[in-house]
Amino acid sequence: MSAIRDIILYVISVLLGVMTVGGFMTSIPTGVLFLLATLFCLPVTHSLLRKLTGNKTGKGIMALVGFLLAVVLSVAGVVFAAKAEGNENESQPIAKTAAATGVDTSKESDVVETELLQNNDVEGSAATDDEQATANNVQAENKAGTENQTAQDTTDDTSEPSRMEVHFIDVGQGDATLVKCGGQYMLIDTGDDTKGTAIWNYLRKQGVDKLDYLVLTHPDSDHIGGAPVVLTKFDVDNVFVSNYKKDTTAYHKLTQALDDQLIKATTPSTGSTYSLGNATFRILAPVNTYNNANDSSIALLVTHGENTFLFTGDAEIQTEADMLVNGNSVDADVYQVGHHGSSSSSSSNFLNAVSPTYAVISCEEGNSYGHPHAEVLNNLRAMGVDLFRTDEQGSIIATSDGEEITWNCAPTTSWQAGERTQSAGKDDDEGDTDEPEETDTKNDYDGEYILNTNTMKFHLSDCDSVDDISEENKETSKLSREELIEDGYTACKNCNP
Ligand SMILES: [Zn+2]
Ligand SMILES: [Zn+2]
Repeated sequence: MSAIRDIILYVISVLLGVMTVGGFMTSIPTGVLFLLATLFCLPVTHSLLRKLTGNKTGKGIMALVGFLLAVVLSVAGVVFAAKAEGNENESQPIAKTAAATGVDTSKESDVVETELLQNNDVEGSAATDDEQATANNVQAENKAGTENQTAQDTTDDTSEPSRMEVHFIDVGQGDATLVKCGGQYMLIDTGDDTKGTAIWNYLRKQGVDKLDYLVLTHPDSDHIGGAPVVLTKFDVDNVFVSNYKKDTTAYHKLTQALDDQLIKATTPSTGSTYSLGNATFRILAPVNTYNNANDSSIALLVTHGENTFLFTGDAEIQTEADMLVNGNSVDADVYQVGHHGSSSSSSSNFLNAVSPTYAVISCEEGNSYGHPHAEVLNNLRAMGVDLFRTDEQGSIIATSDGEEITWNCAPTTSWQAGERTQSAGKDDDEGDTDEPEETDTKNDYDGEYILNTNTMKFHLSDCDSVDDISEENKETSKLSREELIEDGYTACKNCNP
């Protein structure tokens, strides 16, 4: 008789625990009601069982197990509800993972996230022939899918899998590009640290609820500065970072934000491909390790049907050459001009290999680097490329239907190069320049360099050639060696600064 009661009360305890969890998954008030019911019921149940069965019988232990089980389930319900609630306001990978897998994630989140990462990675870690074959299959399927759907493609609904949109978001001096395809979203770079909220707003207006990929091409502040806000506001499935680390405030804020969100950022291997809706993208760089941030940029080629879009971050001539040697195709219909149109990038060889129909430059009007540089503009113009610029046209949107690419505005006709106005001090592109670089080899000189603004050479202050520079062309600079090179200066061959 008492055994049957035991079992009934035991079952009630467990049921209440389960209902508490279920209640919290529905809404907080429902969960609280069930939790109160459980808490009220448990002592009653327990003491009743103790009375009925005596303290030290096996049945007493069974009651205790039921009691503990109910408590654990109730606590799990509370934890889950708190996480789910937090998730509505800010990014919480744990809650996301829990929702997807239905497990308590306090200990397992790392493992589960790694699994999610691997699932999203079409071909995983190593670049092999297999990978090539699989990528080709994916692309072939995409083309078939695109053709099937073109007939119904009568609306502007970009959630339709047959369309892809690429938004070159105007973030002043910096990059931030949103790629939307088939309800999936990739953000490439995040502007500087003043642009995080603007990007969040832009993405929300575009219907972004979570990011499938966040690609941070390289750790300069004009590319990663907005990332902490983005990581806080959105769930991000995969974060890709360059293999170059920087000892700067922007970089530390990024790693802190990744830690806070329990996200493990990875450097994708060159040649690997991933899917985004019915588009795919292939990682083209970094091919090697480099001693500067720009050359360490992640480069990627997005393919949607017959259309291709190339993003190279701030990769400079060395990385461009390495990409060509590496052999992955860089041929693209749309080229986001490397390094904001700086002459340190977009070498003739590389431009010829890309042979773009359209080019987009993301930079700020009147930026101190003089981006875009005249050499690059001249080359693009000579190739008959249609050019778009965020400094003149604001945010620029390209839409691919798999066959054709349309734009939200007409190409620029100005072909106006920027002017270098920077003489000393601030250098957004290289981030927090008052802090030392971690892996740069030649940054131990902490004095000022002497610039010749005519020949664009820089010297140590005790170099003999300095005396020969006319006063109107002479300038002192506190910028680092790397930054001066970034600005188009070359090192004097005599003093070898
Ligand atoms: Zn850079
Ligand atoms: Zn940059």
